[in-house]
Amino acid sequence: MPFRKFVQGYKDFYKNYFQSDSNVYDELVRRGQSPETLVIACSDSRADPALITGSQPGDLFVVRNVAAIVPPYRHDTTHHGTSAAIEFAVKALKVKHIVVLGHSMCGGIMALANREMASQEYEFITQWMDIAAPARDAVEAELGDASPPIKQRALEQAVILVSLNNLMTFPWIASKVRAGELQIHGWYFDLKSGQIFRYKEKTQSFEKLAATLIGQSGESAAAKQDDGECCC
Ligand SMILES: [Zn+2]
Repeated sequence: MPFRKFVQGYKDFYKNYFQSDSNVYDELVRRGQSPETLVIACSDSRADPALITGSQPGDLFVVRNVAAIVPPYRHDTTHHGTSAAIEFAVKALKVKHIVVLGHSMCGGIMALANREMASQEYEFITQWMDIAAPARDAVEAELGDASPPIKQRALEQAVILVSLNNLMTFPWIASKVRAGELQIHGWYFDLKSGQIFRYKEKTQSFEKLAATLIGQSGESAAAKQDDGECCC
C-alpha cells in the first residue's frame, strides 16, 4: 500500500470511529481500557490479530515482536519490552486470556532455522530467535529428513509451545493459571488457507479453531462447538 494511502485511511478511521453515532472511543476515554485478552503476535504485516479476530478498539491488548516469542522470565537490569507488556496486561489490566499467535511463512522462524546465514545479515534477530533454539533442535531431531516446508511449519508451531512454556515461568502468570483466573492459548494462523489452529494439550496437536467456516456445510452446528477452550 503506498504511504499516501494512510492519510485517506486515517480519514476513514476518524469518520467511522469518531464521527459515527456510536463513538467507541467516548466510552474508552471515559472508562479506560479493560481488554480481557492479551495477544502476543508476530510483527508480520499479514498476521494482524485485530483484523483476523474481528476486534474493535479496546478489545485486545497487543504486543508484537519477531515471531511472537515470549522470552523466559528474567528479573535483571536489561530491557524487557515484551515482558513489560505482558506484566502490564496481567497485573494492571488483569486479562483473563493470553493468546500466543504464530503464523505460517514466518521470516523470524526462517532465521531460526537458518541461523548461520541469518547471523551474517542481522545484528539482533538471530540472538532474539535463539530463545526458541530448543524448538529448532527438537524439530531437527524428529524431522531431520523432512522437506523444508514441513520442517518450517513444525518449527513455527513448536516455537508457539516454547512461548507457552515461557509464559509459565512468570510466577504471577503461573499462579493465576493454577487459580483458574487466567487461560493461555497457542494459536497458529495459516496465511494460505486463512485457517487458525489452536494447540490442544490433550492431543498435543494443533486443531482447527473453527470446525467450519462460512460457506462450509454444518456451520451453525459446528459453531456451537467453537469455544475459547484453553490449551492447558
Ligand atoms: Zn512472523
